[in-house]
This record gives sequence, structure tokens and C-alpha cells, in this order.
Amino acid sequence: MLELETTEISPALAELQGKVTVEDPYVQGLRVARNRPGIVRVVLDLKTEVKPQVFTLKPIGEYGHRLVLDIYPTVEVDPLIALIEKEERELREKKLLPPQIKPEEKPKASVARLATIVIDPGHGGEDPGALGRRGSREKHITLTIGKRLKALIDAEPGMRAVLTRDGDYYLPLHVRVDKARKVRADLFVSIHADAFIRPNARGSSVFALSEKRATSEAARWLANKENDADLIGGVNLDVKDKYLAQTLLDLSQTATIDHSLRLGNSVLKKLGGVNTLHKPRVEQASFAVLKAPDIPSILVETAFISNPEEEKRLNDEGYQDQLARAILDGIREYFTKHPPRPHGPLAQN
Ligand SMILES: [Zn+2]
Repeated sequence: MLELETTEISPALAELQGKVTVEDPYVQGLRVARNRPGIVRVVLDLKTEVKPQVFTLKPIGEYGHRLVLDIYPTVEVDPLIALIEKEERELREKKLLPPQIKPEEKPKASVARLATIVIDPGHGGEDPGALGRRGSREKHITLTIGKRLKALIDAEPGMRAVLTRDGDYYLPLHVRVDKARKVRADLFVSIHADAFIRPNARGSSVFALSEKRATSEAARWLANKENDADLIGGVNLDVKDKYLAQTLLDLSQTATIDHSLRLGNSVLKKLGGVNTLHKPRVEQASFAVLKAPDIPSILVETAFISNPEEEKRLNDEGYQDQLARAILDGIREYFTKHPPRPHGPLAQN
């Protein structure tokens, strides 16, 4: 429960109530009400035990002062398991599945191994990403394409997609990586639509992590720009740094990069069917969002939002669909060569 010293329930506060849905794994409901003169109460009904953390963010861009309440569950809910359980529940309601067996009778590993692809729509919230000349924002384009790709993947047999963000909000880069690791993702695909100083820069590119140096000057420039996102929210990045220091030493990173390049090549080839390619091969740079040591990860620059022609196409639904399908085709090709293994794609390498 939060008590805010304010006389009015602002539209933003009032809107909050509708933003929590029953599917939320942690929050049952949210109520906002005037409690006594000068005090507005925000009450959260929780489904699990949580550890709350409160901090403030200074105004940036179009955003004013913000109060951020993070709730961390003391016991994590696995979003994938939650998703499967939800589907089972729905099927049961439609009488397509027999009534639930008692837990002790439930056979272990009754669910077939699904490949989990985490889709990461770049930027969000106070980090709008690149801006097109016609006013399009990268954060909106990446979310739209990300949602399209999720729908396509979910329709594939044996594949399941999880989005790192499904709305317009800020998400630090290390949280995106953590989310992928929590659902034990087989692949991680970050989606972007970037800008360059020259408006005639064009075409799609695919990036994998580089352990050493960026393969080109432009790749280094871009990596610096994408990594800046973590400075925007002013969130303490200590955890991330320790995490990275440890994991970067891990030899599994090398094997993961090798698989990231294979995935990247498949995706780049398919993107070449729907757009010119900015570079004929997968580039490598030090993107923080690609640093999961055990999940093959790529960053796709779908097109240049700074190129007026490409910006127009990025806003076209048909073209967004073509891009999403090209990425899906690349993922499918990767899996035909490297099917998901029992404990993640690299467990037996
Ligand atoms: Zn970007």
C-alpha cells in the first residue's frame, strides 16, 4: 500500500487501475482511492510474497518526476510454466482436456520440450531509441515488429516466444538479459531500427557479441549508442557489472558466440530476401544486451529509421510482417541444423 500526499487523483493514477490484468503473475489487482483529505492511497493485492523497492527518477524528455515501485517476487514464477498452465486451464474450461489430475499423480515432464525464443523489442519508455525524420520512434516500431514475430513463433509447432517488454516502458539492458535467462531461453533476438548520421545509410544488419573489438567503426559507434540506454533510467548497475565480470570469463561464452553467428547468418540471409543488406555478413560488437553467456543472442537492425524511405516502410504493416517472417524463417533454419537440446542448445557442446 502506498500513501501519496496529493489532493487529486491524476489521470495517470486513475489509469493505473486498468493496467493490471488477471494474467499478471504477481499482482491480483490495484486500487486507487482518496483515503482522507490530502492523501491518495494506492493498494496492490498480491498473489505472491514480494520484496518491494522504491526509487525516484528525475524528469527526462517528455516525462516528469516519477516514483518507481518495483516488486520482486521472493519466489519466481516461471512465465513459461505459467503460460502452459494458463493454456491447460483454458482447454479444460472448453472441455478439451480431462479434469486436472491430482498433483501427486501428475506425470513428470508431461510437457514436450518447446524451444523458447525471447524477443526483445529495443528501447521503451523514456528511452525512445532513434527518431525518424517523419517523427517515428524506434521504440514503437520495435514493439510492433516484436509482437508480430511473437504471434508467428507461437503459431509454429514446437516453438514458444516470450517478449521482454509488451508495452511502452523502460527496461534496463541487464534486466532484458536476466529475463531471457529466467525462462531458460534457447535463443534471444533483440529488435531495433536504428539511425546513422548519414540519412542515406540503409539496409538490414545483424549483430552478434564480440569478445574483443567491434568488427567495424560503425559497429562500435552503434554499440555505444545502444548501451547508453542503461544510463537513462539512473538505475544502479552494480549487479550487472559483477554479473558480467564473472560471466565474461566463462568459456561457454565462446561457444555461445559461435552459435549466435550461425543464427545471425540464417536470419541475415532471410532478411536479404526482403531488404537490401547493410553489410553482407554478421557484424560483431560489444552490445550489453547480447551478453547472456549461455544463450545464442543476436541484435537485428531491421532497417534505418533515419532513412526517409526505410522509415516509411517500417511503418507499413505489410512490411513489418515481411520482416517478422524473415526473422522467423532464419530461426527455423537455425533450429533445423541445431535442434534444441534437453538442457539448452549448448549443454552438450
Ligand atoms: Zn536501437
